[in-house]
Amino acid sequence: MKKPFCPLPWVMLATRNDGKVRLCAQSHSSPDKGVNRGDDGKIFTINQSTLAELKNSNFMKSVRKEFLQGRFPESCGRCAKEVQAGLRSRPDYESANWQNFIDLEKARQLTRSDGHIESPIRFLDLRLGNLCNLKCRTCNPTESSSWYADHVSVWGKSFKGFQGQKLRLHKEGSIWQVQGDSFCWGENEKIAPALKEALETVELIHFSGGEPLLLKSHYKILEFLKDIGRSGEVRLEYITNLTVLPEKALQLWQDFLDVRIGISIDGVGAVNDYVRYPSRWNQIESHMAILDRWQRPESIWYALTLHAYNIFYLPELIEWRIHSPFLNINNREPDPLFSVHPLHNPSFLNIQMLPSQVKSKVSQRLQSYLAKGSRDGRFDQTPYPYITTAAVEALVSGYIDFMNQQDQSSFFTKFIDYTDSLDKVRKQSMAEALPEFSQCLRQGSSFLDSRL
Ligand code: SF4
Repeated sequence: MKKPFCPLPWVMLATRNDGKVRLCAQSHSSPDKGVNRGDDGKIFTINQSTLAELKNSNFMKSVRKEFLQGRFPESCGRCAKEVQAGLRSRPDYESANWQNFIDLEKARQLTRSDGHIESPIRFLDLRLGNLCNLKCRTCNPTESSSWYADHVSVWGKSFKGFQGQKLRLHKEGSIWQVQGDSFCWGENEKIAPALKEALETVELIHFSGGEPLLLKSHYKILEFLKDIGRSGEVRLEYITNLTVLPEKALQLWQDFLDVRIGISIDGVGAVNDYVRYPSRWNQIESHMAILDRWQRPESIWYALTLHAYNIFYLPELIEWRIHSPFLNINNREPDPLFSVHPLHNPSFLNIQMLPSQVKSKVSQRLQSYLAKGSRDGRFDQTPYPYITTAAVEALVSGYIDFMNQQDQSSFFTKFIDYTDSLDKVRKQSMAEALPEFSQCLRQGSSFLDSRL
């Protein structure tokens, strides 16, 4: 069996929206949240740390040592689980991305016995703040400033920060703000010294948010790279909700070595409008059309998160995908349909929390869609060469297996409470927006009939 390995601890520096430094986004699901700490236990903040201390903290050194000893570190539990479930996981595709620079063998050569490395930062994963125009149901105030008002309406003025600590919201004029403003760290006038140093050697920057295309600090970084003459050497990567596509971004991107764009999607039409509130699917599709005609279309993909609200509608999403007119988007071999991630947290939106009868109805629906599509050969007759019956089967079966891998149904009541509360505040209705799924829940969880 292949030894666990991930190149990220050798190449990457990652920040959260609050400016704290972590191993990577996936490690946030682990009990230690994957945060990079000093020996005094304090989590490093990029604005107040040197690059040397971030790169070779005892935390980072011990993560590297674990991989070199053939184990997933504790902070990498999420990836370990996905690998175990046979899903294509981040260490797989990052290993492919960085294969020319590092693999397990090279990592052994580059790393001192205590885990120390001298090699430069090549990859920045920057979450520059939580400014966002959407308040997706799978999101929360740490990731989106648009969430504040709804959070106050439903749960009150305090919310949990990334470490589970209590953060307070207060009103400035008509606008809710987080006390202390820790989610605007990137908006400082000057770029933090550690970040500036990393920008001197970086080869790839991943921006997500918040909505990166709305963030001033993101444009400041692109302009800085242009000013120091490095834009032509740097690849940019985004995860965007694509509700906006500013001309300024399209202009600046012309100077960079490559620009790759992941378009966050959860579902088509009503599923999108319900989950990714208050976006409109038509508007997102109109921006997809612009990107589809763009000069680097091979670098654009669909970033799909699967969770309780959309697993039932995976067939509709696949149908949209194989009939979509955007022939240049996601037309690539790895992840030929979507780049998919299962939502792990919050647990009450993870597909593993569906009651067993609901899981079995969802599985039946997905399996019968697969069986019909395989019988009539539809998955092999699309304009996309990489979409095949085998690819669709791998995707759908993988997520049926993942859903059934663990019973987390103790969170189901919380899912219903959460859905009810948000529906009331937003004047939405799951029964109207997702009627077939609501019926499936009614049939599979009769004790909740009156609330569904
Ligand atoms: S294995 Fe997963 S959690 Fe660990 S560093 Fe790689 S991507 Fe992050």
